[in-house]
Amino acid sequence: MALITLKQALDHAKAGGYGLGAFNVTDITQVEAVLDAARRTKSPVIVQTIAGASAFGADELFWDLIMRTVDHYPEIPIVVHLDHGPDAPTCRRAIGAGFSSVMIDGSLDPVTHQIASFEANVEATAAVVEYAHGLGVSVEGELGTIGASEDGSNRREIVLADPDQAVRFVAETGVDALAVAIGTSHGAYKFTRPPDGSMLHMDLIDQIARRLPTTHLVMHGSSSLPADLRAIINAHGGALPESWGVPEDEKARSTKLGVTKINQGMDSHMAWMAAMRTTLDADRLSADPAGSIAAGRRGMTDLVAERMAIFGQAGHAGDYEPSPFRRPAAMPLLG
Ligand SMILES: [Zn+2]
Repeated sequence: MALITLKQALDHAKAGGYGLGAFNVTDITQVEAVLDAARRTKSPVIVQTIAGASAFGADELFWDLIMRTVDHYPEIPIVVHLDHGPDAPTCRRAIGAGFSSVMIDGSLDPVTHQIASFEANVEATAAVVEYAHGLGVSVEGELGTIGASEDGSNRREIVLADPDQAVRFVAETGVDALAVAIGTSHGAYKFTRPPDGSMLHMDLIDQIARRLPTTHLVMHGSSSLPADLRAIINAHGGALPESWGVPEDEKARSTKLGVTKINQGMDSHMAWMAAMRTTLDADRLSADPAGSIAAGRRGMTDLVAERMAIFGQAGHAGDYEPSPFRRPAAMPLLG
């Protein structure tokens, strides 16, 4: 089974009334961590990565290793997804590597990084949908803009999604899944106080879901930034400022309102970093990185497994039929 498309996974999740976490990976042992959590909890899973945002020197090497790692987990339904593809060429590279799903983020102009017009977003997204669907690959688009850059390094203006535009966007692009900006931000710095309805617009999800009952909604920037992990990181040399993310109960509630894909980047990185820093501090005589990297991997597995239980995907790995999706047979080496 292993590789399935995002649409297959989210259709199952919607029918089953549960959400699927999409966990960002930046290193191959993080891929192992996420897939180990899926195996432990018998969960279908979405592994996602952002082009250029890994520990590897070249996306092509990392992406090829992700695909090979998937083959080691034949009993788990796995979506390999490109997160925040900035343009069509990047999406085509990911599809060429064998990814079963891509996100084209047409909400920002890929050259100027300014907020793109609705029409420009539609045009960029529709072109990727046409190419990807021709190869059986799912596509996620984005409407409105989510705070902070994809890797969390820069703040950016939040523009909330508009329900009328969401209906038009889906009709004109044909996306399988839609990221809707509801006030969340990417990265390790989100809200300056626990979020309430003036900051986290769960009502927008409800409004959009009612008008697009067959489109899958995606919540980005939905890490909760656990205070205990921040305390461990900061006790071992880190300096993360206090910040609040999306509470676990709000994430679970979002799946009842119509969200089927819950993007989680930072929490699993924090679990990784907390375990790694603790191990490095405890063994100052070691020069071999394997021990601290392995500790990070185990810490990440534990956190991802907890989230899989909260989102409701745990126990659903056996629900899936074998997928007809196959990665391209003759994959040219790129880059
Ligand atoms: Zn995002």
